[in-house]
Amino acid sequence: MTSARLKRVEESATIRISNIATRMIKEGTDVINFSLGEPDFDTPKNICDAAAKAMYEGKTHYAPSAGIPELRAAIAEKLRTENSLDVTEKDVLVTPGAKQGIFEIMMGALDDGDQAILFDPAWVTYDACIRFAGADTVWVPTVPEKGFLPDNFAEYINDKTKLIVVNSPGNPTGGVFGKKTLQCIADLAIDHDLLVVSDEIYEKIIYDREHISIGSFDGMQERTITVNGFSKAYAMTGWRLGYLTAPPEIFKLLQKIQSHSVSSATTFVQYGGLEALQGPQDGVKAMVDRFKMRRDILIDGLNKIGLECKKPDGAFYAFANVSEYGNGTEVAERLLKEAHVAVTPGIAFGASGEDFIRISYATSIDRIREALDRLEKIFS
Ligand code: PMP
Repeated sequence: MTSARLKRVEESATIRISNIATRMIKEGTDVINFSLGEPDFDTPKNICDAAAKAMYEGKTHYAPSAGIPELRAAIAEKLRTENSLDVTEKDVLVTPGAKQGIFEIMMGALDDGDQAILFDPAWVTYDACIRFAGADTVWVPTVPEKGFLPDNFAEYINDKTKLIVVNSPGNPTGGVFGKKTLQCIADLAIDHDLLVVSDEIYEKIIYDREHISIGSFDGMQERTITVNGFSKAYAMTGWRLGYLTAPPEIFKLLQKIQSHSVSSATTFVQYGGLEALQGPQDGVKAMVDRFKMRRDILIDGLNKIGLECKKPDGAFYAFANVSEYGNGTEVAERLLKEAHVAVTPGIAFGASGEDFIRISYATSIDRIREALDRLEKIFS
């Protein structure tokens, strides 16, 4: 009586842990929640004002399914100037969050029995969406010592392979792919006629490195779907606003999925997005500076306690090796029970994450210091 396809998909482990933490907090326990995938900052006021103004002006009706023209044009301009992608407004689909964009891409690109390549560890939703589409994930191991970069992975490609997902800066490791790695991926994609899905949601949360869009490489425009959104850069997770750009053939399919499922992103929310792109950008820099300070305090503290962790170059996650104390799941359970610190077991993101925990440092410096004190008591 139920869908076999959905039985292939598991509940999101990241959400499960954060639900337990939320329940404990409600019951009065002082839990430090390091499991969340969202900035703890509020959305900048100018963005809220723009959306509220739009709402009061009556921008409360259905929007065109692909997005309001002003926002599509502003996104296209951003993709041209910041990401060197050769796109116009008609190539931009505004989605209710990057996550919905990824769901639509997997549905639009994959058939039953197809294969999609993920670099292990990878954000949980990619595998779920690949399975929703009836396809299979091929996990390519990465090398922790090399910043979780994929090594040669040509052997994982076969005639069922349809696409490769690139996520830089990445969740859960905070790793950033450099030009050389991206070029290797691009070369393989071109040689084997594959699509590349480039999830660039953490593009602005990057420390002393340059973000590079794989879609700007020679020969990649026609095979790259670039996904991005407002959640992380502008602290707009609850607004549900993202976007993608794709080659025309698949773009049409994605539009079809969107129009028959969610219709469009919320109309007045899109005016908030327009202000995010066109208004002052100093809030983004201030947020990234704060994240960087927190990263440095957290990573130095972890290494002092003996939890080995390299400084990630992007996003707001630390991926710490806890193998000295058990596997990631055992350690995460112990931390929640004994220290009231919620982290996510690395295994949630793929087999390579078994010995790791993911710590989201989207939390104040005071709470980070308090968590380090609690961790020290457990691990000393
Ligand atoms: N991609 C990655 C890698 C993420 O970590 C997340 C959020 N956790 C998303 C996409 C989802 O973004 P959005 O809020 O725009 O759906």
